[in-house]
Amino acid sequence: MGAKSDDGNSSRNSNNSSSKPCEQKNESRSWLLHFPDREPLTVACTPPATHAEILAAYPDALAAEPIATGRRQPDALLSGDQEAAIRVWLAQVDETDEAIIAAVLALCRHDGDARAYYLGRADCAATDDDRHFCTECLNLRGGVCVVARPGGLVSAICGYRPALVNVPVRCAGYSPIEISGG
Ligand code: SF4
Repeated sequence: MGAKSDDGNSSRNSNNSSSKPCEQKNESRSWLLHFPDREPLTVACTPPATHAEILAAYPDALAAEPIATGRRQPDALLSGDQEAAIRVWLAQVDETDEAIIAAVLALCRHDGDARAYYLGRADCAATDDDRHFCTECLNLRGGVCVVARPGGLVSAICGYRPALVNVPVRCAGYSPIEISGG
């Protein structure tokens, strides 16, 4: 893992040999990584990476979720307005690394689910929408809402795993992830 492919996606060495069938089932071309101190990051992998491989490649990530088992081709080209909206949102979350920005935009051109995800972020940021994504919340750790308990701020079973982490919600337990500067 490490080199960048032509389309800006993260690429692994291909000599990772005989992966077992059970490991292959966990492979995904697209992962959403959660970090303790910055915004989640979408990473595209060629060839597909397993959960263990993606966490090994990003050791500071708290958790990784496969975005989709297969790439859904967008119905239309990424428009200039959409690209601009995504760029604005990336700037708002202090993402200034041109390689990462290019990788995100490349992903949005070819992956309909990733495009919907980033445009959703951009839409919320562009309005006074006070909803948030669980993936923007400090309390989401490894896919688990750590403040959830019956009768609590998030009244749910302990170990509650929000299913729609990429859908904006109003939540009393929301705690924003601090964005570290540079
Ligand atoms: S506190 Fe609310 S916003 Fe945060 S992870 Fe739990 S359910 Fe999601």
